[in-house]
Amino acid sequence: MKVLVSVKRVIDYNVKVRVKADNSDVDLANVKMALNPFCEIAVEEAIRLKEAGVATEVVVVSIGPKAVQEQLRTAMALGADRAIQIDTDELPEPLNVAKLLAKVVEEEQPGLVILGKQSIDSDNNQTGQMLAALTGRPQGTFASAVKVEDGKARVTREVDGGLKTVALELPAIVTTDLRLNEPRYAKLPDIMKAKKKPLDVKTPADLGVELKTHITQLKVESPAQRQAGIKVDSVDALVDKLQNEAKVL
Ligand code: AMP
Repeated sequence: MKVLVSVKRVIDYNVKVRVKADNSDVDLANVKMALNPFCEIAVEEAIRLKEAGVATEVVVVSIGPKAVQEQLRTAMALGADRAIQIDTDELPEPLNVAKLLAKVVEEEQPGLVILGKQSIDSDNNQTGQMLAALTGRPQGTFASAVKVEDGKARVTREVDGGLKTVALELPAIVTTDLRLNEPRYAKLPDIMKAKKKPLDVKTPADLGVELKTHITQLKVESPAQRQAGIKVDSVDALVDKLQNEAKVL
């Protein structure tokens, strides 16, 4: 079974995000970029399926400018067999990503597609669900465990207040939650080997997809600065402040 993993290049989660002076967007100048953490988990899961003899090939795909090849090489250093970049000037909105991925799914016919549940930069949590709708495939979102057997994927999902396990007929779409696995680190020899693994570049036109803009970003703002706290001398003083200043009691 072939597994297709869709990975996004995002600002590294350790970076303190700055907003541009004109509030048009996050400032990405000279900022460290990385694999979206949920996508890293998706790559790890696919590699584990291959190591377990369930998957025969792991293909990674990313949509965006040439820079996304860096994250595709990282995914190949972690163990993916080959990569596809779909070349666009910017990172497109979820519906466009899903339409492009649907075409890749049509061409590659993977038994399983694994995506992150969410991009940590745009927090959409939409692409996997849209891809499932466009391809007519069953979806198991927010997976904290995945088991493939007898032509089905058993997906344990993190839902409010507990876990829910569903069985999906393959081919299917899965999106990863944080507790699915702990991704490995790439070893230096594997980073070197990944440079020679195949990386195909396609355009949206090659896939017959016209990118359309449905969403306009109006403004980006940093969270309001928290006011400095104060220390109070006694419980009575605290209760007084909660009652008379904060008015929460
Ligand atoms: P989102 O719907 O933007 O929160 O993203 C959910 C998941 O969709 C990500 O974790 C990726 O697996 C996939 N995805 C989103 N944007 C891209 C992109 N530009 N290239 C490849 N995969 C993407």
